[in-house]
Amino acid sequence: MKAAISANNSPSQSNLRRLPAVETLLKSDAMSAAVMRYSRPLVKEAARRILAELRRDLRSNQSSPAISIDNIALLITQRLSKEWPGFSQPVINATGIILHTNLGRAPLSDPSLKALTAIGGHYFNLESNLSEGTRGNRFQELRRLLSIVSDSEDALVVNNNAAAMLLVLIALASGKEAVISRGELVQIGNGFRIPEILEQSGVILREVGTTNKTSAHDYEQAINARTGVILKVHPSNFIQKGFVSQASVKELSVIAGKAHLPLVHDLGNGVLLDTADFGLEHEPTVMETLRDGADVVCFSGDKLLGGPQAGIIAGKHKYIRLMQNHPLLRVIRLDKLSAVALEATIKSYLDDNAAASIPIWQMIGTKIEDLRARAHAVIRRLKAQGIPAAAQDGVSMVGGGALPEQSLPTILIRLSPHGVIDETARKLRLSSPPLVARVEKDAILIDLRTVYADQDKLLSEIIAAAWPQKD
Ligand SMILES: *Cc1c(COP(=O)(O)O)cnc(C)c1O
Repeated sequence: MKAAISANNSPSQSNLRRLPAVETLLKSDAMSAAVMRYSRPLVKEAARRILAELRRDLRSNQSSPAISIDNIALLITQRLSKEWPGFSQPVINATGIILHTNLGRAPLSDPSLKALTAIGGHYFNLESNLSEGTRGNRFQELRRLLSIVSDSEDALVVNNNAAAMLLVLIALASGKEAVISRGELVQIGNGFRIPEILEQSGVILREVGTTNKTSAHDYEQAINARTGVILKVHPSNFIQKGFVSQASVKELSVIAGKAHLPLVHDLGNGVLLDTADFGLEHEPTVMETLRDGADVVCFSGDKLLGGPQAGIIAGKHKYIRLMQNHPLLRVIRLDKLSAVALEATIKSYLDDNAAASIPIWQMIGTKIEDLRARAHAVIRRLKAQGIPAAAQDGVSMVGGGALPEQSLPTILIRLSPHGVIDETARKLRLSSPPLVARVEKDAILIDLRTVYADQDKLLSEIIAAAWPQKD
């Protein structure tokens, strides 16, 4: 009995009774900013959970946390910022990885953004033929633009390149065999595996050659009455070195032509500019691949094309026509806003303006002297605030499973918050706006190649604010 009485009077029991009601919390000044930012239902739901956790802790006497409204409000706000970061502000990408999949691959160009702002809030002629006053084809103009820019007979656009591959295979070879090299049965990113896409499309995988070597003859020998397509896949995110060789598009095109089969090439990136002009190795362009004899190629809109998420299919009309009329097309169609952004992106290429106006190409083309000057300006600013920082040579990566092993020389800013590297990197990521940098064992590295120059000052301020305080 004695024990029960003393338990009832324990500090945590009285704290339990003093926990505020959810409604009281929501009405408090301490929560008003959170309600504005996250909306009332989100704050209410988080408040319920935090209060339940506090109640549980108090009951089990684990701890007796402070229970003022301000303290509870802080717990709720911290929880919300962790769970609901939202897309409300851009992230500063200081990793030097140009196509950063986790950060949304290619940022859009100014012309694309202008087009989205001009059109997105209005009705527009998405599926309407304005001269005839009739229903139009959603992507007729885009198809023409894509054919012209890729120098192909016909083109088509869908939701992304994985969907493009699925459509191509289903339309051209469902129930038949796809001949593909064992060296190209790759996995791209998280969960896009060529053998699995083949299986989903009802196409039978006919592997030829070996992991490291496949000759044109290997393909030729595998062709039979059930063959539906010859498939070539850009390995995208890895390279093979040493005793390796794969059949070329030219060689395969001869074999495909003789057998009256389509040669399909999943290019992944779909480059329209000459990468050699940017100090990278020459990557066969979409136009070159078609010229070399691929009948159908497909590639992403948001990799090295530098536009919105999309899957572009280009090539011979007689094959594209089969996809155009396929019911699957409706399921994987491109969203209208992506169509607007893609049109503007393609227009930059047609205007010969892509290198200057498309962000990823601006970044790829940024001169090392510019990066050096900017890095030193940031370092001076940091040093003025007592933060040690130094410049060092390094490399930027194209990323996004594009051009693996190929890098661009850059100047890195090295920050060494001794003993608290991970904590400081986390603080940078949780800053407003978030700053994502490269984290190594003994340093945080900042690569300005992927940072917009007008963000350099902000970047210095974020670092200064996140820097560990001396005690
Ligand atoms: C990236 C890639 C894909 C997938 O493209 P998404 O646009 O992400 O769907 C398919 N094939 C290859 C070769 C790729 O590099």
